[in-house]
Amino acid sequence: MGDEVSDRTVRGSRNEETRRRNLSLVLSAVHAGGELTRSDLTRLSGLNRSTVGALVGDLVSAGLVVEAEPRATHQAGRPSPVVRPSSDVVAVSVNPDVAGVVCAVVGLGGEVRLRETILTPEHLTPEDTALLTKDFLEKVSKEFPSTTRVVGVGVAIPGIVDEQRNTVREAPHLKWRDVPLVSLIEEEVTLPVRMANDATLGVMAESMFGAGAGFDDVVYLNGSVSGLGGGVVSGGHLVKGVRGFGAELGHILINPQGAVCACGRLGCLETEVNIQRIWAVSGEGQVGIDDLDHLYAQRASAALNTELDRQADALAAGIASLLNIFAPARVILGGHVGALFEARSDRIHEGVTAQALAPVGEEASLVRNVLRERMVPIGSAQLAFGPLLADPVNTSLFEWGSRAAVAN
Ligand SMILES: [Zn+2]
Repeated sequence: MGDEVSDRTVRGSRNEETRRRNLSLVLSAVHAGGELTRSDLTRLSGLNRSTVGALVGDLVSAGLVVEAEPRATHQAGRPSPVVRPSSDVVAVSVNPDVAGVVCAVVGLGGEVRLRETILTPEHLTPEDTALLTKDFLEKVSKEFPSTTRVVGVGVAIPGIVDEQRNTVREAPHLKWRDVPLVSLIEEEVTLPVRMANDATLGVMAESMFGAGAGFDDVVYLNGSVSGLGGGVVSGGHLVKGVRGFGAELGHILINPQGAVCACGRLGCLETEVNIQRIWAVSGEGQVGIDDLDHLYAQRASAALNTELDRQADALAAGIASLLNIFAPARVILGGHVGALFEARSDRIHEGVTAQALAPVGEEASLVRNVLRERMVPIGSAQLAFGPLLADPVNTSLFEWGSRAAVAN
């Protein structure tokens, strides 16, 4: 008798586990695909039609997806309805950087609904970051419909994050060390907060929604004002290393006689491929990353051309080493590295071909990132959406800044 009961319990929990996994599969597909028919979902999930129908029904009841007419159709006859992420479900992205904090609201499905840079006149502290996050939430809570539900806050850090201890281990440009930033923000905003390295989050976003979509082996390099970050997806898995400290691609050694890096060493890739050195010779001051394409397309001075050539050669050497180690199908270049690639594409391709082992060089394509300035916000939001995507109907959603969960 007792055995029968426990058998039933085991079977019940197995069914529950299967349902949870299938809901996760369907919601993740809608999140990544944006707009899918039930037939798309049947094909993508490998589940049968009636199961997909029931799962979509559950996700609609939970307010996570909506069924609607497709946006446009070229087919004759009645179009089949599509499943779309609900526009009421959002995540908040927070990205502290040298000049201030970039905050954003990102919808399920990866749409950046609002993005704002809050500049700080003085050096940004962790406490400022927590308070600015609270101010941002208060402000946007008035701008979004009252039906909006927030899954949490994802924080992107330009530095090394200890993901087990939820601390910033070292962010050299911010001059932060061993900062318990997650708990500092949670004290102010009472939403769940998760944190990771900004480049790692960028590679997650670009892999799901951008130039890495559909590729299992990708190396990614992003240049920001705070230096050069990177990420590696190998065999479909993000390379993290012990406690998430790995894939610090900006600190691979390029030039032993080079300049001093923020990490204290000499000639790291990020000191050789560096926006501050572009600023130093461009004569245009601190040109923003979004405006570099324009700067490079103009008739550049001899000094700027020489510097671009030098940085292109250093970048090619760095990429060649990364190709030899990881043999990716794609190398995705973002931020100021993407602009450099656009300006010196031939030179970089030639340098890479000359320095990488032939088979890996032939297999890899170099591309610029697609998401541009939306990349880090989308990646941070992806971090916040993680628990919801893994367990769609049992993960709490919240009102702006309120710990009171909204029933879903
Ligand atoms: Zn370094």
